[in-house]
Amino acid sequence: MPLPAVETLIPADTSPPLQDAPATAKPSFPALGLIPELLRAVAEQGYSEPTPIQIKAIPPILQRRDVMGAAQTGTGKTAGFALPLLQLLAPQANTSLSPARHPLRVLILTPTRELAAQVEESVRTYGKYLPLRSTVVFGGVDIGPQMKVLHAGVEILVATPGRLLDHLHQKSVNLSRVEFLVLDEADRMLDMGFIPDIKRILAVLPKQRQNLLFSATFPDEVRRLAKELLHAPVTVEVAPRNAPPDLVTHQVYPVPLLRKRALLVHLIRSRDMRQVLVFVRMKRDANRLARQLVQDGVTAKEIHSDRTQVERMQALEDFKQGKVPVLVATDIAARGLDIEELPYVINYELPHTAEDYVHRIGRTARAGLPGEAISLVSPDEMKYLEDIERLLKRKLPQAAVPESLAQSRHPSRPQESRHERGAGRHRPKPHHEPKVHAHAKAQPVPSRISPHAFDYSKPYEPAAPAPASKLSTVAPVQRRHHRPTAALLGGGPAKREPHK
Ligand code: AMP
Repeated sequence: MPLPAVETLIPADTSPPLQDAPATAKPSFPALGLIPELLRAVAEQGYSEPTPIQIKAIPPILQRRDVMGAAQTGTGKTAGFALPLLQLLAPQANTSLSPARHPLRVLILTPTRELAAQVEESVRTYGKYLPLRSTVVFGGVDIGPQMKVLHAGVEILVATPGRLLDHLHQKSVNLSRVEFLVLDEADRMLDMGFIPDIKRILAVLPKQRQNLLFSATFPDEVRRLAKELLHAPVTVEVAPRNAPPDLVTHQVYPVPLLRKRALLVHLIRSRDMRQVLVFVRMKRDANRLARQLVQDGVTAKEIHSDRTQVERMQALEDFKQGKVPVLVATDIAARGLDIEELPYVINYELPHTAEDYVHRIGRTARAGLPGEAISLVSPDEMKYLEDIERLLKRKLPQAAVPESLAQSRHPSRPQESRHERGAGRHRPKPHHEPKVHAHAKAQPVPSRISPHAFDYSKPYEPAAPAPASKLSTVAPVQRRHHRPTAALLGGGPAKREPHK
């Protein structure tokens, strides 16, 4: 795989410059000093050479330095921290059945369940020839099985902050032997309101430890956190590996709001799109658009935080396998998704933060293949387009909406008709386009959460208590009552996915 140009999408750092990572002469895994067990696992993955973030991050991590990494998912950053951490754990790796011989030494915190699952899978893959144990914990699923695995002893734990606090609360995890902490996607942790949870977790970690922080962007609060957390860190910066600007074709369709849906269907059909990730801003819009696409004869599913973990995993799997060609997603749900060779990303709505556009397009043009980022931009969104163009430092090419769409028989409806709303509960998959009552007054969409499902719209309640572990030595964490649950994964407060 040719190494892409290294550049940064991170706004200039105003804090004092940090020492740069040492340049590595030869971009090969053996040259990075990795042990044979890891080289074998990496070779099995078909990685012929390390990516820029791996070249820059692996040596200082092996030297027990703190690292601040400016890199997003897709750059190969997981192997960038997982490989050296596995190597640092390797001398004590053992096959003993005793939990005491498998103390928790690496804690990796991620903002989303999907990312947590992906990271743990990578750790498992890269560490397959070492007798080390890892597991993943996140909210929205039964805590019991997670407790059992933790009690048996694991050296590496990948967790979302809210669920980790639950485990601390229930004394099912012991953090007193943690030597390495990884904060993955710190900026998204901030967006999702996880910083207070992270501070609670930091308070119970041993002070002596190596810290690694990765973030795609560095807003002030992430910089402050990095300053608090990291000691004389090495900074490493790379552009998204698979989305260098010349591999992504950007295309903007200026289109009236009411023509968006027809244009979307037209684009999917006329270009024979077999795999397209469609972004909207709000959960409700993801539900609605996926439903409308199905009505239009386009197989589609939605992925956002009101869907159960199982539903989200299923939707993602169906999409990855090509069973469902269109996945409608919100920004938070799509964050960190690693979808190989995704050819198209469509912004049905532009994000209100220009950085999110970069994250969205980072989903396409992966694995060195070209990708297209298409944006349907209504007049009210032009200001967001300007922000994006300012961030990318260039104008995005505009395309004309085909004339024929003016006579479209499938006008997009910004609001659901009463008829459709009523049908929502009792008739999950309507076969016909319901009549549109243009002046129907908007009503709130009924909640689709079953009484037994994990309800993200409710204040946070810790998971049901379970018998305390004899192994645990961690003091109970004081939890606020009625803390709102994180919009997406693992339970966290404050900023939630918009749900209008
Ligand atoms: P990540 O940024 O860690 O989510 O990695 C994104 C993708 O890159 C994953 O599918 C990895 O399997 C893949 N990957 C990681 N390192 C390499 C490498 N050195 N060569 C090729 N692919 C890689």
